[in-house]
Amino acid sequence: MSELDNFRRETRAWLEDNCPAGARGPGPIPIGSTKVALSDDSRIWLERMIAKGWTVPTWPKQYGGAELSKAEYGVLIEELSRINARSPLTGRGVNYIGPTILELGTDEQKSRWLPMCARGEGAWAMGYSEPGAGSDLASLATKAVLDGDRYLVNGSKIWTSDATECDYIFALVRTAPEKPKHEGISLVLIDMDQPGVSVSPIRLLSGKSPFCETHFDNAVVPADDVIGGVDNGWTVGKRLLQFERSTHAGINTSGSQGGREVSSPVRGILERYVGIDNGRLADTGLRKRYLEHSINVDAQRLTQRRAIEESQARAPGFTSSAVKLTNALNLQEADELMMAAMGTTGMTLTDDSEDQHRIAAMTRWLYQKSLTIAGGTKEIQLNIIAKRVLGLPD
Ligand SMILES: Cc1cc2nc3c(=O)[nH]c(=O)nc-3n(C[C@H](O)[C@H](O)[C@H](O)COP(=O)(O)OP(=O)(O)OC[C@H]3O[C@@H](n4cnc5c(N)ncnc54)[C@H](O)[C@@H]3O)c2cc1C
Repeated sequence: MSELDNFRRETRAWLEDNCPAGARGPGPIPIGSTKVALSDDSRIWLERMIAKGWTVPTWPKQYGGAELSKAEYGVLIEELSRINARSPLTGRGVNYIGPTILELGTDEQKSRWLPMCARGEGAWAMGYSEPGAGSDLASLATKAVLDGDRYLVNGSKIWTSDATECDYIFALVRTAPEKPKHEGISLVLIDMDQPGVSVSPIRLLSGKSPFCETHFDNAVVPADDVIGGVDNGWTVGKRLLQFERSTHAGINTSGSQGGREVSSPVRGILERYVGIDNGRLADTGLRKRYLEHSINVDAQRLTQRRAIEESQARAPGFTSSAVKLTNALNLQEADELMMAAMGTTGMTLTDDSEDQHRIAAMTRWLYQKSLTIAGGTKEIQLNIIAKRVLGLPD
């Protein structure tokens, strides 16, 4: 038996013994946050996975990881999927800022922040977008001015997802307004539990408020908490975006369970609403679309795997834009297929509907439209692919 087979056998046995029933199945994945209470099973699951170093399986042991190889990490993902285990910890700590600090932080920053990320001590918000800086991120205006051994930050960030539940925010701020716009930016870590930080939720049509505006009014940042060097934030911030896009694409090998495949309900819904005729979907048009979709999903999975295997660093570089975009387009096509199969009966958000799967499909269809905006829009990804992957002229 090979070493990898041994690892699989031991992993399978350990997961069977240690993953509580309440940590298996679908449902929201807890983010590390001191403001969100975990169920008992989620807490036990998180503690056991922390002890194994499997909340950040590929990170060095000294920072809370298990130093798994890519192959072992792949096995772990497969075994977690096999028993339908929920991610013990996810979010911007393990997936975005953690890998960035691991790659570009000083030793002191790594020792201070990474074990916290690995243990889920505190959830992180992302402070990039501003009212006047979305796709054109380098136009950001939030300022940080050095005041002794600390920076004072003033300005506002918009679309800061989950900020009401977060303990920290990593933010791109302008530290040298006199320099050209890409050269005067720094990435700083801000404790949100201080008088200089306030959060206002943005209420959506659905009544929910996953988005917020986060305001800084002389917010204090220790000068040590600039990641990757002062005025080097454009480079550091772009690398973090690659980790974000890799996570969206399911190819983040540094964070928790980035490569995990989530099963889609599309086939079941099509069979239920369109019907089966001689073992095939009864509607010719939808059958053809579903076949094309299935081929695209398979191609996507193979590309994901290739991107992970080929990447030298902890996450692929510009390729992450291509995989993120195609992943988003596949998920959106799955939603469109489900809505086409259900027709007007699918248009429901009322809780008294007998068919909960219709509400789930409708909510998913509406939510996943954001996948071609969040983490950089479809057009921005296409621009990156054209210039950086295909090498077309600027
Ligand atoms: C679900 C969700 C979660 C988000 N969470 C966060 C978060 O936590 N933190 C955060 O900082 N931000 C977050 N965002 C914001 C997100 O990063 C921005 O919405 C995104 O970068 C686009 O910026 P914008 O909304 O200002 O649109 P704009 O930049 O104004 O773009 C408007 C339109 O113009 C197009 N466009 C712009 N420039 C070009 C160009 N050069 N070439 C071609 N087309 C172009 C865009 O593709 C888009 O269609 C989130 C967004 C969503 C939808």
